[in-house]
Amino acid sequence: MATEEVPEQSEHATLEPLDPLTELIPPDELINKLAIPAFVINREHRITHWNLALASATGLSAGEMIGTRKQWMPFYSHPRPTMADIIVDNAEADTLSQFYSSKLTQAAKIEGAYAAEDFFPDIGDDGEWLSFTAAPLMDCDHKVVGAIETLVIITDRKKAEQQLVENERRYRELSVTDDLTQLYNARQLRKEINRQIELCQRYQQPMSLAMMDLDHFKQLNDNHGHLFGDEVLRKFAEIIRHNLRHSDDGFRYGGEEFIALMPFIDEAAALQATERIHQRFCDTPFLTPGGETIYLTVSAGITRINPDDDYDSLLRRADTALYEAKKLGRNRIIVATAPFRA
Ligand code: GH3
Ligand code: MG
Ligand code: MG
Repeated sequence: MATEEVPEQSEHATLEPLDPLTELIPPDELINKLAIPAFVINREHRITHWNLALASATGLSAGEMIGTRKQWMPFYSHPRPTMADIIVDNAEADTLSQFYSSKLTQAAKIEGAYAAEDFFPDIGDDGEWLSFTAAPLMDCDHKVVGAIETLVIITDRKKAEQQLVENERRYRELSVTDDLTQLYNARQLRKEINRQIELCQRYQQPMSLAMMDLDHFKQLNDNHGHLFGDEVLRKFAEIIRHNLRHSDDGFRYGGEEFIALMPFIDEAAALQATERIHQRFCDTPFLTPGGETIYLTVSAGITRINPDDDYDSLLRRADTALYEAKKLGRNRIIVATAPFRA
């Protein structure tokens, strides 16, 4: 057993004592071989390291930059502190967020380090999005002696994110129905009313519209929760769908506001259809999350189209009738008294 240990001991004994790691790997070599653009500043805010990746990304060489305080230069059109400068000054998150507003986050797992993303219009021809992190460099007494900042160009990722948002917006624009109720949405209402107005004017056909608004809906949400409110909205939409003719259309105009568009009929026939919807809804028992059975009401305003109506004038008249129904105590239908202008 002793003989086995001897060669190992003698091997070590013949070697020089190990140099500290920092002496074996020169810091310049370390930072220059880092694929991520990085620079280091000292306590006086002077650049001590400017790596090759940063030189290649900015076109500014280490020779030009080291020893200066021009670390702002590739990123801004005028001198201002970089994140590394603020960290060297031991500034708190408050100061940092003045410069980086809401984009600032605390870098995970590195003491005293921060990260942010920002658009830099002065970089390149069209500007670039950068993600940058700065961390304090400390001596053995834990005193800040400098800071290191690393930068990653994230323009491609940002463009992809913006494209997603844009696609989503366009998808919404193309969609004609409301997600919750599957009735047509308000955008579609405007289109459909404009189309109907044109048809009515061309063929002198009547058309009527009912604007319906659930009563005390805010209170219902407050008492039984938003999800229960959503369930009521879905049910009301279903009642509208089942009680309209094929040629009619139902729309969700706003939160708890709905519109039934009824071509070819006058306000008297529209009143009958709306009364049917009103009655069905008022007769529907709803079981609340608290286990209570409740009944709800709805108010409506009805109007018929004028030959010289446009979208706004038609809806304004329906809205006035609805307002009248609310004012008179709700749970009722009011037909606009003078649908035809003098
Ligand atoms: P009024 O009888 O005068 O119409 O009173 P109201 O409480 O019904 O009217 P108000 O306009 O004060 O409140 C409407 C409420 O509808 C407020 C809002 O939170 C709620 N609401 C709007 N959209 C939705 C939705 O999609 N889901 C749910 N659950 N509630 C909604
Ligand atoms: Mg309401
Ligand atoms: Mg309302």
